[in-house]
Amino acid sequence: MTFATLGLIEPLQRALETLGYQTPTPVQAQAIPAVLAGRDLMAAAQTGTGKTAAFAVPLLQLLTMEGPKVAANSARALILCPTRELAEQVHASVAEYAQNLPLTTYAVYGGVSINPQMMKLRKGVDVLVATPGRLIDLFRQNALKLNQLQTLVLDEADRMLDLGFSEELANIYRMLPKKRQTLLFSATFSDEIRTLAGQMLNDPLSIEVSPRNVAANTVKQWVVPVDKKRKPELFVHLMRKGRWKQVLVFAKTRNGVDALVDKLQGLGINADGIHGDKPQATRQRALDRFKSSDVQILVATDVAARGLDIEDLPLVVNFDLPIVAEDYIHRIGRTGRAGNTGEAISLVCADEVSMLSAIEMLTRQTLTRHMEQDFEPEHRVPDTDASGQVVKKPKKPKKPKASGGGGKRNLGKWVDSGEVAPAEPSIKPVRKVPVFNTGPRKKK
Ligand code: AMP
Repeated sequence: MTFATLGLIEPLQRALETLGYQTPTPVQAQAIPAVLAGRDLMAAAQTGTGKTAAFAVPLLQLLTMEGPKVAANSARALILCPTRELAEQVHASVAEYAQNLPLTTYAVYGGVSINPQMMKLRKGVDVLVATPGRLIDLFRQNALKLNQLQTLVLDEADRMLDLGFSEELANIYRMLPKKRQTLLFSATFSDEIRTLAGQMLNDPLSIEVSPRNVAANTVKQWVVPVDKKRKPELFVHLMRKGRWKQVLVFAKTRNGVDALVDKLQGLGINADGIHGDKPQATRQRALDRFKSSDVQILVATDVAARGLDIEDLPLVVNFDLPIVAEDYIHRIGRTGRAGNTGEAISLVCADEVSMLSAIEMLTRQTLTRHMEQDFEPEHRVPDTDASGQVVKKPKKPKKPKASGGGGKRNLGKWVDSGEVAPAEPSIKPVRKVPVFNTGPRKKK
C-alpha cells in the first residue's frame, strides 16, 4: 500500500516523500480514506503509531480541496492538544505536511503572551493547533471565531480528561458549529472518553491499533529493585557503568524532577528537567538542547513528556514508576521507534510493587529483574507476574549463623521473577479514573 493508493493528492505525497514516509502506518491506512470520505473518527492510537499524520494529512487535503478561504479571526480546522509541548510538536508536523499547500497553520497555548497570538489570528489561519485553556481565552476576547470550522481534532483525548480539561472541553463544545467533522484520538477508551465521544462525534468509525512497543517488542525492558532512598545513587552508578549518553528519565512529581536534576548537576552531570511549573520557553529550550545532545539527561514528569517525539532515543529510565499503568507504555514509547531497538529500565522500590504489578498486567508480561550488586534492597520488592498477582515467598526457616567465609552473595545476575510460584493474594492494579464533566480544572 502507498500514500497514492489512499487517494492523497500529489503535493501531500511529495511532502511525505520528503519526510521519508514510504508506506502508511496501520492507523494511517485506516484513518486517511475515512477522513477523506468525511467520516467522524474514534481512533485508539498513541504516540509512535503515526497518528499525527493519520489525522493531519487528510484534513489538509480536505481544506485544500473544499471550503471557502479562511476569514479574519477564524480557523477552518482546530486541533486540540493537552499540553504545550504536544501542541508545538503537532504544529511542527502539520506545517511539514502542508509544505506544498497554500494553507496557513499556527499553534496557540498558555504560558506565553496572548497578544502576538491575537495579532496572528487577525488574518485567520487554516489549521489552528491549541491547548483548551488558551483557545477559550482567545475566543472570549473575540480574537477567534469558530463559525467557519470544518474539522475538529481531539488529540490525546484521554490525557485532556486526566488533566482536568473536561470543563474546558464542554465549553469549547458549545462554541462549535453543529455541522463539522470530528476526529477523536485517544490511547485508552474509558467510559468517560466514550461519553465525550457520544457527545462530540456523529456516527464515528472506530479504529484500533495496538500499542506499538508492547506488541512489537522492540524495547528491552527490565527492572532494578532498590530501596527508595538509594535511587539517585543507583541511577548515577548505572549511568556511569552503562556510559549512558542520552537518557530520558521519568520522575513522578515536579519536586522529584527538580531534586534529581539538582543532584546530577551537583555531580557535574549535564542534566536538565521539564515539568508543568516551568515556563514554556524554559521547557522548550531544555527539550531542544536534549534533542541536539547538548543536554545528556532530561528528567521529566509524564505530563511534560507526553507525546514528545525524539528520534532514535536509545534509553528511557523510570526513576519512579508511573501511578497510571498506561503511562508506562507512553514512557517506553519514547524509545524503540521507527524500527530501532531501545531499552527501558525501571528503578523499583518496595512501595511501588502495586504499580509494577499493574504494568505487568497491562503489558501482559513479567518484567525481567536485574539485581544490581551492592544495591540489593533492604526492603524486598515482592515478586509479581503478568496475572496481576504479587507473589509472597514463604519465609525460610532461619539458618544458624555460619562461621567464616562471610563474603557477599553474588546477586549480580539476572533473576526472572516469573519463575516464582505459587501465587498468593492478588492486589488490585492501579486503575486510571479520568473525570469528565465534573469539578473545576486541576492545576497543571
Ligand atoms: P506520531 O505517532 O504521530 O507521534 O509519529 C511518530 C513518528 O513516526 C514521527 O517521528 C513521525 O514523523 C513518524 N512517522 C509517521 N508516519 C510515518 C510513516 N508512514 N513512515 C515513517 N515514519 C512515520
